[in-house]
Amino acid sequence: MRTGKDLELVHLTKRYGDTLAVKDINHVFRNGTYVCLLGPSGCGKSTTLRMIAGHESATEGEIVLDGQDITVLPPAKRGTAMMFQSYALFPHLSVRDNVAFSLRMKGVEKIARHRAADEMLALVDMTHLAERLPAQLSGGQQQRVALARALVTKPRVLLLDEPLSALDPFLRIRVRGELKRLQRELGISFIHVTHSQDEALALADEIVVMNNAVIEQAGSARDVFGAPKTEFVARFIGGHNIMDLDGGRFALRADEVRLTDDGRPATVSQVEYQGDRVAVTAKLGSAEVLALVPEGAFFADPKTPGDAVGLAWDEGRLYRLMA
Ligand code: ADP
Ligand code: MG
Repeated sequence: MRTGKDLELVHLTKRYGDTLAVKDINHVFRNGTYVCLLGPSGCGKSTTLRMIAGHESATEGEIVLDGQDITVLPPAKRGTAMMFQSYALFPHLSVRDNVAFSLRMKGVEKIARHRAADEMLALVDMTHLAERLPAQLSGGQQQRVALARALVTKPRVLLLDEPLSALDPFLRIRVRGELKRLQRELGISFIHVTHSQDEALALADEIVVMNNAVIEQAGSARDVFGAPKTEFVARFIGGHNIMDLDGGRFALRADEVRLTDDGRPATVSQVEYQGDRVAVTAKLGSAEVLALVPEGAFFADPKTPGDAVGLAWDEGRLYRLMA
C-alpha cells in the first residue's frame, strides 16, 4: 500500500558530461521498508543515493518525499540522512560530540544536543564509550557512531552507501543484523547500497537491482531470487542456471536441479563441497548446469568429475527471461 509518506523518484536522471550515470529511474520506496539497491560497480547506485541525499544535483527528474518535492532542497532540509562509505568521524571530537555535531551546526544548545546524542548512542549500544575519541574505537564501534550521527537528525529515510564493506566478514554479519533491528525499531526507511547479493537477500524487504544506470528489477528478496526477470538479474543474484531451451531462454534455480538415474544424461565436470550442500557442475550437451545438492543427498550417492549423471527438474520451475 502506498502512503503519502513514501519516497518517490520520478524520471530521475544524472549525466556527468557524456556519462549517463542514472537513466530515467522511476521508483517508489515505500515508507518504513528496508530497501537494498543492488548492482555491480559503476551501475549508478551511489549517484542515485547522493541525489536522494542532496549531495548531488539531478540533471532531470524529481525526488518527492512525504508529498513534498525535495529535488533542490539542501541535504539538511530534506528529511534524509546519509551514512557514508568511509564513515570519517572528527578525530578531535569525542563520540558524543561527533554524534551531536549536526545539531550544533543547527544551533541546538549544548544540553539538548547532548541529550539527543545520548539517546542515539543508547540506540546503537554505545553509551559506555561516549567520552572516547574515534581513534580509541574499533571499526565496528566507529561504524555505530557514524550511524548514531546520521540518525540524530531524526530522518525519515536513512541512506547507507556500502556500510558494511569495511568490516571483516564476522562483524559484517553481526552489524547487518543490528541494522535490520534498528530499521524495524525506528520504523523509517533504510536505503542501503550494496554490491553483495548475500547482503541484499539477508536484509531487504525490497531489492532494487540496478545495471547500466537503470533499474532492471525490483521486488521482495524472494521474488527477485525466485523469479529473476532478466539474464543479468539471474546471473548477478547467483544460484541460477541460464538455460537455452526450446521456446527461449530460462532461469532455473541451481537448488531445483536434482541428480537422478533417469534424468537428462550429463557428465560431472566439477564437485565443490560447501558444507550444508555440494555444488555439482555437469556438462549437458554444450551447456554447463549447476546443481546445488543437499549434503546428505549427495553423499548417499557421491559423484566425482567424469561420472555420468542424470539431471532432472520440474518444468514449472523454469522462469522465462526477457530478451
Ligand atoms: P556505483 O555506486 O554503482 O558503483 P556510481 O554511481 O558511483 O556507481 O557511478 C556511476 C557512473 O557515474 C560511473 O560510470 C562513474 O564513473 C560515473 N561517475 C560517478 N561519479 C562521477 C563524477 N563525480 N564525475 C564523473 N563521473 C562520475
Ligand atoms: Mg558506489
